[in-house]
Parts: sequence; C-alpha cells; structure tokens
Amino acid sequence: MNVQKPTLSFNRRSRRVIVTGGAGFIGSHLCDSLLQRGDEVICVDNLYTGSVRNVRPLLNHRNFFFIEHDIRVPLRLQGSVDRIYNLACPASPPHYQADPVGTMRTCVVGTINMLELARQKSARFLQASTSEVYGDPEVHPQPESYVGHVNPIGPRACYDEGKRAAEAVIFDYHRLHGVEVKVARIFNTYGPRMLENDGRVVSNFIVQALRGEPITVYGSGQQTRSFCFVDDLIRGLEMLMESPAAVTGPFNLGNPQEMTIEAIAREVLARTKSKSPLQFKPLPADDPKRRKPTIEAARRVLGWQPSIPIEKGIEATIAYFTLSLATEASKPSATPARRKQVQRPISTAAAEVR
Ligand code: NAD
Ligand code: UDP
Repeated sequence: MNVQKPTLSFNRRSRRVIVTGGAGFIGSHLCDSLLQRGDEVICVDNLYTGSVRNVRPLLNHRNFFFIEHDIRVPLRLQGSVDRIYNLACPASPPHYQADPVGTMRTCVVGTINMLELARQKSARFLQASTSEVYGDPEVHPQPESYVGHVNPIGPRACYDEGKRAAEAVIFDYHRLHGVEVKVARIFNTYGPRMLENDGRVVSNFIVQALRGEPITVYGSGQQTRSFCFVDDLIRGLEMLMESPAAVTGPFNLGNPQEMTIEAIAREVLARTKSKSPLQFKPLPADDPKRRKPTIEAARRVLGWQPSIPIEKGIEATIAYFTLSLATEASKPSATPARRKQVQRPISTAAAEVR
C-alpha cells in the first residue's frame, strides 16, 4: 500500500474542506459540489475502491488538491481546515469483506485520526455512517432511535461494527474535546461513478443488463432496500454539515421508497431493454431482509428530503454505464492493472508543487 505523509502549503485563505474517500463514488460527487460552491477541496484517498478517473476533471481546478493517503495513518497538514467530511471506507460488501481487518481499522483508527485532525484544526467533522448500524432490523422502518440488530461475529461485522464504533468515538470526541460533529446514516445510494465491478446491486444489474449477462439475484429477490440517487444524498450531506453547531444527528439520509430486489432487476431490464435472464443465487450470510429509513428528523431539522424518483435515477445511471462500458471497450488494455498505473502520477508531490 502506498502510504504517504503529506505536507501541503496554501497561500490563500478561503474555506478549506477535506473530503476523505473523495475519489470514490459519493466522495467525487461531493468534491464537485463543494468546488462549485467556491470551497477549497482537499481530496484524501488511498484509491482502494476509488479511482482517479472520478476526479480527473478536477485535477486542474485551482481549488482542488488530491492527496494519495491512507487515513489509517495520521494526516499532517499545514494551515487551517474548516470542514472534514469523513467518507473513506469501502462500502460494497465484496470489497469491505475482501480485507475485513483493514475495513475495521479504516472505520475505527481512520476515524480517530481524522477526529484528531478536526480537534487540532477546530474543524467541523461529518461522518458518513450507514444504515448498516441497524443490521438486519427487527424494527421497520428504521428510526434513528433504533439501536440495531447487528451480528457481531458475521462477515458484515467488520463494516457494521466498525461504523458503530466510529459513531461511538465521534460522540466521545464531541463530549470530551468539544469537536463539532455531525453523523449521517446513509441508506443505499446509487448513481454514476459506481465502479463496474463495485458489486452492489444497482451497478451489478445495470452492467449485467447492458452486457447481456444473467442478472444475479441473491436469495428469493424478495428482500427490500430503499434507494437514494446520489445528487439527493449530496444535498443532504451539505445541509447537515452547514446546520447549526448544536445539531449533531445521527440523521438517516435515504429515500423511503422501498422496493424488492426483484423489482429493481425488472426496472433495470425494462429501461435497458435487455433480454438478460434472472439468475437466482444463494443469499449472502446476514443479508438484511428489509430496509427503509424514517426521515422525519432530516425533514424537520434540516429541511431535507429526496426528490429524484427511482426511474429518473436509474435512467441517469444507465446512461453513465452505457458510456463508460463503451469507452472501456474501446481501450484494449483497460484492465485493473493498467488503471493502477494511470493512478500513479497523481501524488502528494504533485499536490505540493501546485
Ligand atoms: P466507495 O467505495 O466508492 O468510496 C470509498 C472511498 O474511500 C474510495 O475512494 C476508497 O478508495 C476510499 N478509501 C477506502 N479506505 C480508505 C482509507 N483507509 N484511506 C483513504 N481512503 C480510503 O463507496 P461510496 O459508496 O462512495 O461510500 C462512501 C462512504 O459512504 C463510505 O464511508 C460508506 O461507508 C458510506 N456509505 C455509503 C452508502 C452507499 O450506499 N453508497 C451507504 C451507506 C454508507
Ligand atoms: N444483491 C443481489 N444481486 C447482486 C448484488 C446484490 O441480489 O448482484 C442483493 C443483496 O443480496 C442485497 C441487496 O441486493 O439483498 C442490496 O445489496 P448491496 O450489496 O447493493 O447493498 P447492501 O446489502 O449493503 O444493502
């Protein structure tokens, strides 16, 4: 793993925002949005599941800095920092389970490192927590007051318990050190810039449909999720970050429109006009049977609610993957190994020079 300890020098004073995991799916959309607001954005990412491709258009932006760094290592920066969005963590089950101890360390050690930075810089801290803190819920829909039903020894525990421990330590930093904290419990979010091999359901189904491959439905397909389009989520994260200091959350951020996984498969098939068959596969261990957020608190306190219906969001995501698969197909050596080489030149050194 390429771990570096960067030192950045800035010569201007404007609002500086760190986005850890900023080269990932959600993080890269957040970087776009913050730059549009006029913020200076420092994207911190170890490129584990993120890609430079997601932030390539930003690399020449004068307010954008990319640091290849692993948050499990303390980050030292010169100058002030006003906001830290802590999004760094693999989010897809196959990816977070591929290195479970690493995932736990990212959730816990990584979050403590970023909280330390927030404390040193008197920066406001927002955590990308998750609906997985509710585990396989026995209460439906899930309000923030529900304390959850997580299997602490199962294959999802590295992520679920890691994120729960992160919430615990965040509120300890708030109580002990007065760090201004905000916690968003994000429910299943989808959209452009998910990886083709991300492994989560919406990207899997769209890529399979576009390639004419079987649609892999796990279990009976009658388990449910509630899917939020990424643009809605980004708006919610920013509204939470800019809410009054006393507002900490946790807040559920998600779209309460609940669907079965089979219904998502049929929606994707209809919109891609694909003839791919459904292929039923075993349900992974501890896969939650149903999930739907209660978002009354976000509505009331933040004035936030999602507005993009699933049909529109799926169309936008299909359009993204149609283009992205066509571009990949036109490159003979566009393998993961090659993508890794392309990522190399963008380094801390490059950020320091700018
Ligand atoms: P993603 O995998 O696309 O992005 C995660 C990013 O974090 C990647 O760019 C990855 O390279 C980076 N990263 C991972 N470990 C790191 C480390 N140790 N140091 C530095 N960077 C690291 O996933 P995403 O869907 O964009 O999720 C972003 C955040 O939102 C995650 O914290 C995730 O837990 C949370 N979340 C997402 C969803 C969702 O449905 N997308 C739901 C709940 C919570
Ligand atoms: N799923 C599926 N086929 C896939 C990928 C996922 O049927 O190719 C199912 C998975 O078992 C789960 C749901 O879709 O019930 C959502 O899975 P995802 O990994 O997207 O998110 P999470 O389980 O973390 O909510």
